[in-house]
Amino acid sequence: MKPIYVTQPVLPPLTDYTALLEEIWSSRILTNMGPLHERFAAALRELLGVAGLTLFVNGHTALEAGLEALDLTGEVITTPFTFASTTHALVRRGLTPVFADIRDDFTIDPEQVAALISEKTSAILPVHVYGHVCAVEALAEISRKSHLKLIYDGAHAFNISYFGKNIAAYGDMTLLSFHATKLFHTIEGGALVYSDPAHAELLDLLKNFGIQSAESVCAVGGNGKFSELAAAMGLCNLTAIAQEIDARRLATLRYREQLDDTPNLILKQPPEPAGSQLRHNFAYLPILLANQTLRDQVHEALRQQNIHARKYFFPLTSQYDCYRDRQWRGQTPLAADYANRVLTLPLYGALAQEDIDRICRIVDAACRTHESRRLR
Ligand SMILES: *Cc1c(COP(=O)(O)O)cnc(C)c1O
Repeated sequence: MKPIYVTQPVLPPLTDYTALLEEIWSSRILTNMGPLHERFAAALRELLGVAGLTLFVNGHTALEAGLEALDLTGEVITTPFTFASTTHALVRRGLTPVFADIRDDFTIDPEQVAALISEKTSAILPVHVYGHVCAVEALAEISRKSHLKLIYDGAHAFNISYFGKNIAAYGDMTLLSFHATKLFHTIEGGALVYSDPAHAELLDLLKNFGIQSAESVCAVGGNGKFSELAAAMGLCNLTAIAQEIDARRLATLRYREQLDDTPNLILKQPPEPAGSQLRHNFAYLPILLANQTLRDQVHEALRQQNIHARKYFFPLTSQYDCYRDRQWRGQTPLAADYANRVLTLPLYGALAQEDIDRICRIVDAACRTHESRRLR
């Protein structure tokens, strides 16, 4: 059996990509904000309906640059139920993460955020985990009242619209990731989206060593430049994004039909209610098992059939070995519980129906052999 991974990157028809490579071969411009970089940035601004957008070599570099551009200090309230990047970016910028607990949709709980604000707090960094939309209205209200910056990790939230507006347009800034494992990718890549157009100038400097002109270097920048080859991949993949999301929606429905009455399991992908103001992106398919033992059994049963589900996000970032000696402010019991019970199943447009059915049979069988227990 061929291995099935949690995701499979979309690749455009090779001839689409080589057509753009031919442009690169004739211009001989490979990076440093060339013509394809500009074309791709413009296409993204149009698709997302935003004016402020800067491309970066990857999402993590974008996030660090965003934290720097917002000139944050002291504490930032965030979630430990996320990928390493979110927490590491804060620590690498000399900021102190303060961990708020999550709600049952895995996103940060605004009430807990409000309770953790201190005189040292400068910002809130929530994550649209799995593409589940954070409590954006409540978080905006809290940040406005307490004069805090609001920067979203939207690495999972490409092409979601909420009340007619792209989710990346909420808050002061949103980071997007275009890594090969994400719904939409440029091999490696990322962007910062921001509401204040004045950020553009500093972000352009930060991603290019602070170089303003041939003889003027006016900021201590790094290198976050997005290449022409990545832009070419982005331009090709933009044409396939709607189709990929549709295929994932159908795959999600097929999973839902088959796992709906599996005991000891809840599908955590919220259905898209008809007429709702949310257009979801079906980026991931998280399930929650009755307990850690069952989660690990399901993971192993799949692995034995060469199916590689992932324990996203276990362990919590606050529990990483590299943070062993740190004492964190904030209690996150629900995040800890969910990290022990969560499993992310394979989900991508090209995943065959027979494979979904096979995965469901394995998961269902493992759950049925487990002693029945009520789930919250
Ligand atoms: C992937 C990811 C990032 C980092 O993006 P890269 O493009 O891989 O640097 C940040 N946060 C979350 C939640 C992610 O999943």
